[in-house]
Amino acid sequence: MCLIFEQIRTGGDRNFGYLVGDREAGEGVLIDPSYSPAVVVERATVQGLTVTHIINTHGHADHTEGNAKAVELTGALVAAHPDAPDQPDVALADGDELVVGRLRLRCFHTPGHCVDHLVLYESQYHLLVTGDLLFVGKVGGTKTDTDARTEWTSLQRVFGTLPNETTVWPGHDYGARPSSTIGLERHTNPFLRCVDVDAFLQLRGDWADYKRQMGLK
Ligand SMILES: [Zn+2]
Repeated sequence: MCLIFEQIRTGGDRNFGYLVGDREAGEGVLIDPSYSPAVVVERATVQGLTVTHIINTHGHADHTEGNAKAVELTGALVAAHPDAPDQPDVALADGDELVVGRLRLRCFHTPGHCVDHLVLYESQYHLLVTGDLLFVGKVGGTKTDTDARTEWTSLQRVFGTLPNETTVWPGHDYGARPSSTIGLERHTNPFLRCVDVDAFLQLRGDWADYKRQMGLK
């Protein structure tokens, strides 16, 4: 087993795509190739990996944009939550595991930002690809208070399940750094320091003021 894990800038709104693979098995997956499918596929080629799946963390266009081109280049299957706007070739429900060589990517269904949101956890190396659920120092946008409550529940579940040393790999480069850990976010992300869901909703409402006060962009 030899892990290949690359975070790739794909353009758009500071989007990140990912390449995850097992060098010995010669297999890999692309996560959210987005606006740069050819670049992400090229990384797989350079690493000697056959791409088996193109996984979407969720169905927003800035994450699925590159699917068609990536499929054309690789012949891989598209995998996403069954509630995704476009029916995936492979449906990934909560608790499902996608096998990549000797790696296993465990899916957590994490609605809130949208109904079909998934995060992907690799338990040997404690890697968590968080899409638009969790950014460095922030959380994903929601349209309504009901969605925000749902997102809170999703966050509590992920943070209640995974160890502090888990590294966090978001869908956009919105934070002070391009990646983080569960432990660091637990202690520094203002949305995760909220004592309860009401404080979480309050902070969302006050976010513009909070950012100004804290000098955040
Ligand atoms: Zn999104």
